[in-house]
Amino acid sequence: MLLLAALLAPAIHTDFEGGSLGKIEKVTDTHFRLSVKGESDQDNRNRQANWYSFRVDGASSQPLTLDIVNLPGEYNYKPNRGAITKDTPPVISYDGTHWEHVTTFEYDPDEPKLVLHVQPRGKRLWIAHCPPYTNVNLAALRNQIKANPDFHEEAIGKTAGGRELYLWTISHGAATGKKVIWLMFRQHSWESGSSWVGEGAVKTLLASTPESVALRDRVIWKIIPLCDPDGVARGGVRFNVNGFDLNRNWDVVDPVKMPEITAQRNAVARWLKAGNQIDLLLSLHNTETGEYLEGPPDNGGNGKFKPLAERVSQTLVSQTTFAPARPLSFAEQTTTPGKPGRMTVIQGLYKEFGIPGFLMEQRISDNKKLGHLPEVPDRLKFGEELVKALAKAVAN
Ligand SMILES: [Zn+2]
Repeated sequence: MLLLAALLAPAIHTDFEGGSLGKIEKVTDTHFRLSVKGESDQDNRNRQANWYSFRVDGASSQPLTLDIVNLPGEYNYKPNRGAITKDTPPVISYDGTHWEHVTTFEYDPDEPKLVLHVQPRGKRLWIAHCPPYTNVNLAALRNQIKANPDFHEEAIGKTAGGRELYLWTISHGAATGKKVIWLMFRQHSWESGSSWVGEGAVKTLLASTPESVALRDRVIWKIIPLCDPDGVARGGVRFNVNGFDLNRNWDVVDPVKMPEITAQRNAVARWLKAGNQIDLLLSLHNTETGEYLEGPPDNGGNGKFKPLAERVSQTLVSQTTFAPARPLSFAEQTTTPGKPGRMTVIQGLYKEFGIPGFLMEQRISDNKKLGHLPEVPDRLKFGEELVKALAKAVAN
């Protein structure tokens, strides 16, 4: 009877793509302390603990108490209490596909911990920091679009874990006289919201409506849909398997330790060397509560890219759900002066090629323009708004 009770008790699992937890402690049959695994960099610094994704099997009608613990970390060498707070309740799903935010929770800033109270609506449920988007999702998208004659895919290299990295080109008709926009999604594996935006962007660009055809008629879209497939597979945070942050290190480019950056950098270099231009490059990210757009270093390329940056910013603010917490700013030359391996993609590519790169952060917490916590449909819709706004901003 005791054995049967144990078998019937809820159990926590992470043995699926993107699944991640550290230590799992059972307090009672319906109360668990779940440690966020977190990841540190190659020097065991900059611990970031903001991805967790797990499944509960064998839930009954008994309410579950789930304490999310082990949150403190470090960012750009400054310690913090952790990125998981009252502002970042997780999402829950009963089919692994449709997600909604957990609404019954409290945050204890002293430990710190996030305590979830879940009244199960089924025997099996999934919980994650934000709606997961994995290599499986990307493969499904590829299958939907690969036969489109305006879609072209090339493999540009492999990750440290041996996974393929892709560059997609979306364009219609002759290439002459077109603007060129590069988009990069998911440099950081926890930031799944950026992938949902990417999916919305790609679907919009390949749609058959006259408006979508015009978008690919006027612009050549170069898209790296998923920059860190290894991290996405293992439920990582922001480092590759060797501990390198894939949105730093653009000033070192080591093909052995960080082949992802090498492959992406070389794809850009080949494009430029073949005589093509890049009118705008955007790397999309997520933060917990911040939202902003950052333009090219040197105060917008010594002013050269300032009008473009202002157009991008104004178009996004007026025509999309982008709700910046601060005005447009321009990147410094590096994130940590005097230390190698600290340039972001826009800093590194600006220094090497003079490209106008932009970094956009979108919050996972409440967006005042939306009036709620961002959900998957909001991200997909923003992807549509984003490509329309960028095409307009480069048109000048
Ligand atoms: Zn990021």
